[in-house]
Amino acid sequence: KHCIIVGGVAGGATAAAQLRRINPKIRITIYEKGRDISFGNCGLPYNIGGEVSDRDKLVAATPESMAEREITVKTYHEVIRVDSGAKKVTVKDVSGNDTFEEEYDYLILSPGGAPKTMPALLDVPQSFVMHNLEDLDDINSYIAKHDVNKVVLIGAGYIGLELIENFVRRGMDVTFIHRSEEVYRPLEDDMGDFFIGEMKRQGVDVRLNTEIVEVDGNVATLDNGEEIDAPMIVAGIGILPRTEFLKDSGIELNDDGFICTGETGRTSAECVYALGDAIETFYQHTGGKTTVALAWGAHRMAYVIASQISGNEDVEFEGLLGTNIMRFFDYDIATLGLRQHEVPGYDHFIVDHRQRNKAGYMDGSVPIQVRIYVSKPDGKILRAAVVGTEGVDKRIDILAAHIRLGGTAADLANIEVAYSPPYSSPKSVLNMLGYKTI
Ligand code: FAD
Repeated sequence: KHCIIVGGVAGGATAAAQLRRINPKIRITIYEKGRDISFGNCGLPYNIGGEVSDRDKLVAATPESMAEREITVKTYHEVIRVDSGAKKVTVKDVSGNDTFEEEYDYLILSPGGAPKTMPALLDVPQSFVMHNLEDLDDINSYIAKHDVNKVVLIGAGYIGLELIENFVRRGMDVTFIHRSEEVYRPLEDDMGDFFIGEMKRQGVDVRLNTEIVEVDGNVATLDNGEEIDAPMIVAGIGILPRTEFLKDSGIELNDDGFICTGETGRTSAECVYALGDAIETFYQHTGGKTTVALAWGAHRMAYVIASQISGNEDVEFEGLLGTNIMRFFDYDIATLGLRQHEVPGYDHFIVDHRQRNKAGYMDGSVPIQVRIYVSKPDGKILRAAVVGTEGVDKRIDILAAHIRLGGTAADLANIEVAYSPPYSSPKSVLNMLGYKTI
């Protein structure tokens, strides 16, 4: 049997490795349209700031190391068409301009997302995105070649914010441009009111309610007519599923172009599976449809698909909570569950609690705030947001595990936390949310 995998990074490379581990005999071919496979996208911003000092450590596997496991990798090969009826793909060799067809018994799609762009930045040589290792290398070499010490950052999602932190750490002057005042939409506005203050404290030049309309040489013009120095521009304004090649493939896409999947990872087409940023999946706790462009789901689904293809159909995907966390200078920000705009669709109430992360009498204890949205009919936690400067990761992971095991908001009072003054309180912030719910 032959399994073709489209995309060789987070989802694709992991699916290949899992499939080979479970299934020593199956023939596996990965087609990757870019230069690299299996690198840690999540670590890219931290090479800019120096916390990943060795860029090569971001590469987990190469075509050569995959070959040792009898996995064939074709980089610079783009799958441009899928015929799920005839079970074959059309592949374009991007470097040689050659096109050929290949048959599969199983097809795994992990094409991820394409970074969004802005019309004003098209054909601007000093404009970059941060989506893959090639982008990181391009940014680093542009900085070195042109001796750049100033960057204009566009985008207030987690990648934009991580880049702000890392360019500041690198010692560069950062200008942040954002077309509204709402920074980091996944978090409640009132919980994220520190973002702008923290940026200014770090010396970032903050420009809100504006955007770049034109770039001429190293000068960018804003929509208010102002001209700013822009020797380098990096945009992190979101991604779109990279699924145009699946039009007319017989594989169902939703209205936004995401590939529809279910518990087995299978798509609407026989023997075709999909994972990663390009899929529409479902919430673990409500069953509602969602999309989550984060690494955990890709890794979990890789295991599920590898198991399914290898005949172990008991292994299924349980859906996602979208559990996420981000560091922004001293702050840690984490959320899980429904997106804010989805919560009003559910009959719910909010419980909010703020206390010190450890015993309040300890020097160095700091505030931590947790907000949960509780379903009125059954007490389930629909959404949670956690903000603080210490101990946020622990709380969000406990909440994720609690929800996974069916715990309600009131049950939080019963979680027996490990307590000693440097770590928590006899009634931790999560316990308090439970007491406030009862
Ligand atoms: P990708 O890893 O993007 O891989 C898709 C690959 O498919 C690409 O290499 C692409 O070239 C290739 N491809 C696309 N179409 C074709 C085609 N037709 N033919 C051949 N090849 C094709 N997630 C977290 O959970 N935590 C984090 O902290 C985090 N930080 C991130 C930081 C950055 C800068 C970025 C970019 C992402 C980050 N993510 C993070 C998200 C995480 O990396 C993605 O969720 C994950 O990579 C998705 O895996 P994927 O396989 O769907 O897509």
